[in-house]
Amino acid sequence: MGQIRLYIAQPLSVNNAIELDEKQSHYLTHVMKRQVGDSLLCFDNQSGEYLCEIAETSKKHCVLHILKLQRSYCLPPDIWLIFAPVKKDNTDFIVQKATELGVRKIIPVLTRYTISERVKKERFIAQTIEAAEQCRRVDLPEVAEVIDFENLLKCWPTDRKLYYLDETLNSKPPLQAFINEDKCAVLVGPEGGFSLQELEQLRKAPFATGVTLGNRILRAETAAVAALACWQALRGDWK
Ligand code: SAM
Repeated sequence: MGQIRLYIAQPLSVNNAIELDEKQSHYLTHVMKRQVGDSLLCFDNQSGEYLCEIAETSKKHCVLHILKLQRSYCLPPDIWLIFAPVKKDNTDFIVQKATELGVRKIIPVLTRYTISERVKKERFIAQTIEAAEQCRRVDLPEVAEVIDFENLLKCWPTDRKLYYLDETLNSKPPLQAFINEDKCAVLVGPEGGFSLQELEQLRKAPFATGVTLGNRILRAETAAVAALACWQALRGDWK
């Protein structure tokens, strides 16, 4: 029987009890069929991951006792993912994979050719929680408000490198481009690609570096996953 992990949206500490909300109680007792005395892991995105035991269950509620701290809170490397929302399922995929691949922040950006302007932040957050529970993260990536391309560049923190994925093959491959071990971000274009004007703005920005992922045109979600995997392997916590 695999160990269940739950994100709890309240501070946790040893020897305290917590009452789960109706949704999590239902999941634990009805979907996963756990009973009083069974153990699970919980994390609070601020102090760490705890071993807990189910102390009480009723139809809609479930009380856990927090037994011990298993792992302290820690943050993954300081890399962000910025992407132009695509179709619903593919956007969910990008958010889920970015969480698994250890990004600290996810920023939806609206570019000239972005097809989907409806960004549901709550849905993004739900995806990050589910992915973090599954992949054993003790933190959650931050989900930023959607921003348009112009403002993204205008407000960019200049101490952070921006790696934009450039399908025009005018940029460096990951091994040469990914030089930063901290404070960086990967920017992926929409299905329609970046406009010529956007590429020009990116080329001129002193904090931005283009990256090519080879001569095959990848879907935006593939490009996001490939670039994050390369960065983690070369400069992040896979090295
Ligand atoms: N419509 C564009 C075209 O046909 O040339 C393709 C856009 S692609 C589906 C979506 C995004 O993924 C691009 O804007 C880029 O950021 C990234 N991407 C795809 N293939 C890439 C590659 N080979 N190298 C770098 N980035 C790539």
